[in-house]
Amino acid sequence: MGILIKKGLLIDGSGVSGRITDILIQDDKILQISRDIKEDGHNIIEATGKIVSPGFIDIHNHADLTILEANKAEAFVEQGITTLLACVCGIGVAPANEKVKQYYFNFVNKAFCSSPDLYENMSKFYQALEEKGVSINLAFMIPQGNVRACIMGTNTGLANESELNEMKKIVRDNMKAGAFGLSTGLVYPPGSSSSTEELIELSKIVSEYNGFYDSHMRNEGAGVIDIGMTELISIARKANVRAHISHWSVISRYKYKELTLKAINLINTVREEGLNITADMTVYDDGFTSLSFVLLPTWVYDDFKGNLSDPEIRKRIKKEIFDKLYSMFLSDAPFFMKLIPRFLLKKKIIPLLSKAVVVIYALKNHDVEGKTLFEALNILYPDKDLEDALLDYFIDEEGGIMIRIQQKNEELSMIPLFKQEYVCPSSDAVLILGRNTHPRAFGAFPRVIARWVRERNVFSLEEMIRKMTSLPASILGLKDRGVIQEGKKADIVLFELEKINERGTLQNGCQPPLGIDYVIVNGQITVENGEHTGILNGKILKHKS
Ligand SMILES: [Zn+2]
Repeated sequence: MGILIKKGLLIDGSGVSGRITDILIQDDKILQISRDIKEDGHNIIEATGKIVSPGFIDIHNHADLTILEANKAEAFVEQGITTLLACVCGIGVAPANEKVKQYYFNFVNKAFCSSPDLYENMSKFYQALEEKGVSINLAFMIPQGNVRACIMGTNTGLANESELNEMKKIVRDNMKAGAFGLSTGLVYPPGSSSSTEELIELSKIVSEYNGFYDSHMRNEGAGVIDIGMTELISIARKANVRAHISHWSVISRYKYKELTLKAINLINTVREEGLNITADMTVYDDGFTSLSFVLLPTWVYDDFKGNLSDPEIRKRIKKEIFDKLYSMFLSDAPFFMKLIPRFLLKKKIIPLLSKAVVVIYALKNHDVEGKTLFEALNILYPDKDLEDALLDYFIDEEGGIMIRIQQKNEELSMIPLFKQEYVCPSSDAVLILGRNTHPRAFGAFPRVIARWVRERNVFSLEEMIRKMTSLPASILGLKDRGVIQEGKKADIVLFELEKINERGTLQNGCQPPLGIDYVIVNGQITVENGEHTGILNGKILKHKS
């Protein structure tokens, strides 16, 4: 007995127009696609009026931090995701040794408010997942932050030859184990200390196994082209490796249109030259990240509370925060802004920023969640000036402050980037168990269909589904997923175009979406009428070179 999906509108992921047909699933595969397949005692799903699409593939997700506890992966599978790629942005639960456990993971625990178990290598992590069972297919990158920290700890210096060789060995071993490539997070410690040369050397190993280099670039703001993309392209070229831009963003207060067009031209030019460069994008005009990870210099973490409490050291921290903010947000400002003395800018920049930032989740004080950072600091520290209040807030929350900041422009930047044929949507989800999170963890994929296909009509449904399915499958090199064709794996989602949407808000991000009726993972019904069935039929996907 199989599963027979009757009379749905099949949009097969290839980009071609939809057609009404039946689909028969046997075991974990699509057995037959044709009109009027005999019912023959199969389990029937009546799909009249519904869209039948390949399961969505989320190519940028931080699920590794919580997936062993949240192995039903409701947040992801209920929005139609059947495969995701984790251990991105250079951060992940493997590989890890004592150095990673002792030092480096202080950052990640603080940054993401999670303290997951760590694994010596990808194989051990795969084994733990296979023993536990998961409801979604999982693919993993090798997080370069871990690789560096395994060898260098918190040493921010350049790697010497023997250290580099040890890092290469870790990359090689984990590529052999089935990782899809190397991910970097070059704004975060310890990846921020890596030189381009170091990344090229590691990427050469990735290239030997036909994996890809996936980067949260060193700069996504005014320096997105000159610093971020230029470095990524040079790595792609010198290591002869496929390269992928994580959550491609062009963030600028003043030059959205110009910078975005330049960014697109640059990638299109090097692609024409023959470089294999792709990108994903989060489909919200804001970013969700850890406030302390983004603002505090790496050395502060060596003695987090001590450094943040010492009056002299506080002065140095304030200066370094200002320098960071200046290079992130003001280096592309018009000339007249640059004439303003820095001490005056300094007075302005923290109030300006803190009004633009919303606290989504904090470790201790939950009652300020959903408020702007400006409001939160004024409520919690009414007698302090804003800069001191901010440093005290870091201490009191032990660094665990997750924020969103509105920083992108949908018209001038997001849609033009997304229109490029090699750009796919991603969730960039961070799940914090039992706590609030950004709505994208639960609704990124329904949102992009609702907003850009149904409501604004910027993309056809066929093109959007191609971007959610066969495009990421091809970046990952998954030959048996991402399209609905006879013989392929049966990862399928059924949804209603008129109903599909996210439901999460900044105050309550943890809400399942509307309009996703069925999700089938490797031939098993995992979501039925919008509800998780408890089935754990996901697979750990291993890259084959
Ligand atoms: Zn990132």
